Amino acid sequence: MKIISGTQVRKELLEKYKETIQKKNLKIGLAIIQLGDNEASNTYIRNKLKYTQEVGIDSQLIKLPEETTQEELENQIKALNKDKKITGIILQSPTPKHIDFTKCARLIAPEKDVDGFSEENLFSIRDNQEKIIPCTVKGILKLFDYYKIPLEGKNVVVMGRSNIVGRPLADALINRNATVTLCHSKTENLEKFTKHADIVISAVGKAGLVKKEMVKKGFVGIDVGINMVNGKLVGDFTKEAGEKASYMTPVPGGVGPMTVAMIIDNLIELKEKEK
Ligand code: NDP
Repeated sequence: MKIISGTQVRKELLEKYKETIQKKNLKIGLAIIQLGDNEASNTYIRNKLKYTQEVGIDSQLIKLPEETTQEELENQIKALNKDKKITGIILQSPTPKHIDFTKCARLIAPEKDVDGFSEENLFSIRDNQEKIIPCTVKGILKLFDYYKIPLEGKNVVVMGRSNIVGRPLADALINRNATVTLCHSKTENLEKFTKHADIVISAVGKAGLVKKEMVKKGFVGIDVGINMVNGKLVGDFTKEAGEKASYMTPVPGGVGPMTVAMIIDNLIELKEKEK
């Protein structure tokens, strides 16, 4: 079994991004909006700021109080949409319960939508006219490219149908001529699908969901899931399932590092489209 190292690929990509930003003298500004003080979000934001700043992006955190109203948040987003120094905007999830996250995320102008959650960008994948691809999805596609794992004609099972991972990922794989089965919590007999799949991608968030009986020998496994079990970070695949793979992403160190790298990839893409 070969490990797909997102950490290694990210390292190489960051060097490339830094060079591109310097050579082309790109002035890129990133604004991350956070409401409240969610502990997991603090860690994600720290990473986003660290890696973007390391490659020469002017990134800043706009930390608003938990009680910020929907209207105040909408006004903040509208102001950033108009701000010429800002290339991209991220609304950090989760937001407090009184906020309509989807509505706010979709207020971000498509040309500043780093996360790729706007209707225009999401539909562009469905329409096979890909514009900005959500970071986790783009990160997975880069891993397939880097490790030269073919997609055309392959049977791919995607587990999870969220708007930020499962669905856009299924669309992007269809665009690359894979035959895609999209499974979810109501899928009956998951194993019937996964057993015959050349590639199994789990974006569910349930430790131990994918067991060795469910996959064929030599399959490619992509584990998007993040679960905390006894203080340890694990994915959705059991260790034994992973051992049957020809290629497998570890957790941590697989898809996660790619997601943050793709923020930079998307920011460069947005900046270059500005011209
Ligand atoms: P959501 O909770 O939005 O979606 C989970 C999906 O899993 C749903 O579509 C749900 O089905 C499906 N599901 C639940 N139980 C089962 C089951 N038993 N069998 C098959 N499908 C099932 O999560 P996200 O898409 O936001 O994230 C998924 C996971 O990926 C999480 O662990 C998250 O932490 C992780 N993640 C990791 C990232 C990274 O960079 N590594 C980035 C983003 C997410 P239904 O629609 O029917 O409810």
